[in-house]
Amino acid sequence: MSYDFDLFVIGAGSGGIATARRAAQYGAKVGIVESDRLGGTCVNRGCVPKKLMVYASHFPYEFEESAGYGWTVGETSFNWLKMITAVNNEVDRLNGIYQRMLDNSEVKLYRGYGKFIDSHTIEIGEQKVTAEKILIAVGGKPVKPDDIPGVEHAITSREIFNVKEQPKRIVIIGGGYIGVEFACILNGLGTEVTVVIRGDKILRGFDEDLRTEIQEGMERHGIRILNNKPKLSIAKQDLGLEITIPISNGESEIIVADAVSLAATGREPDLSNLGLENTGVEVVKGAIAVDEYNKTAEDHIYAVGDCTDRINLTPVAINEGRAFADTHFGGQSRKMSYENIPTAVFSTPEAATVGLTEAEAKEKYGDAIKVYRSKFRPMYYTLAGKEEKTLMKLIVDTNTDKVVGAHMVGDNAAEIIQGVAIALKMGATKANFDATVGIHPSSAEEFVTMR
Ligand code: NDP
Repeated sequence: MSYDFDLFVIGAGSGGIATARRAAQYGAKVGIVESDRLGGTCVNRGCVPKKLMVYASHFPYEFEESAGYGWTVGETSFNWLKMITAVNNEVDRLNGIYQRMLDNSEVKLYRGYGKFIDSHTIEIGEQKVTAEKILIAVGGKPVKPDDIPGVEHAITSREIFNVKEQPKRIVIIGGGYIGVEFACILNGLGTEVTVVIRGDKILRGFDEDLRTEIQEGMERHGIRILNNKPKLSIAKQDLGLEITIPISNGESEIIVADAVSLAATGREPDLSNLGLENTGVEVVKGAIAVDEYNKTAEDHIYAVGDCTDRINLTPVAINEGRAFADTHFGGQSRKMSYENIPTAVFSTPEAATVGLTEAEAKEKYGDAIKVYRSKFRPMYYTLAGKEEKTLMKLIVDTNTDKVVGAHMVGDNAAEIIQGVAIALKMGATKANFDATVGIHPSSAEEFVTMR
């Protein structure tokens, strides 16, 4: 049977676009459908606009710090609308770049909602296209927990980039990546921020030292973190949103947030209206079930990225997609390696990590681990007169001397850990770290001088 395409991709986000382009480079006839703007969550309402807002939020600290270096900064002011407009203009520019990239790679782009009507046919409005292989890369969407009364009044990270007026007071529910990053962004920009979490600390799953260090840093910068608060409710009042948080003995604290409250309580695959029921694709716990080669229960249908709910990070979706394209169109069978995936939290202070946490390493290697820790005030903060600290931590398997975890909280953590991640991926030992000459003076050199 002949098909319209060798490969048809549903969803032009990071994973979908990377796969489509790679397959087309190998000579495959590729189509892709997208109902929204090109680039998916990362470009439009995730990593990219978020990081630009992180930059915006750092200036007040730098204005302050510059005084120690002899600068006098005049009166400063911040225009939220100007920042949001500039951020969205940049997103528009990137959409244009994605469009040109697809045009240049001869991937045919369809605008509209792609829906399976059978396992080889996708319906897009009035059109139908058929493909030999189909890749689902539809991403995820924020979840608002239904156990929080009034949560419908809260916005999510989807809407935050379109808020036209800076919130004066905000309550953020959730202490994961998004809750923590937006708490720091908004606090830096001058909003009064309260974070409410149901556990005892932010960033569950990260190394304990890293969690403590970020949490203390956030509190030092003026963010209020209310922990162990599993039950709260939201009500809309004339003045804004009223968030009621039970404290103890039947007493509650009420916080009035002026307009918005942000629910940063996780994300889930966005499989609505995809017509999966017309295929043999299996969905397990709300996510598309795939094998290590990204294959679904249908032999010719594959899925990558957040819709499979494995590790929901942009570079992971891209890597999964490229492995799929290399395997099926490039003649080199390849699966993605999930070991030692580095990740960063763009909080203030910033944090980044690769490999095992101390707890995970203990579970895997028992007592055969050695932990190296260093906490210091970076040179920059001496003249700036601030007590900001950097924390670095290495975890070593003493049986092999291999470094199995590296964690950092402090300025440029993401940039530094990216390099360290190469070493871990290559199986570097502590002796290899020790044999590496440091760059002086830098914070990063601490990673090769820890004793
Ligand atoms: P996370 O899963 O990271 O965090 C969710 C938070 O919400 C946790 O603190 C969780 O608490 C809390 N929570 C969940 N359900 C409830 C509930 N019913 N009531 C109260 N609190 C609740 O999700 P995010 O939304 O922050 O981020 C989604 C994903 O996006 C991340 O996992 C990551 O993959 C990706 N991302 C990556 C970024 C990066 O790489 N820098 C940046 C932003 C997002 P508890 O811990 O107790 O479960």
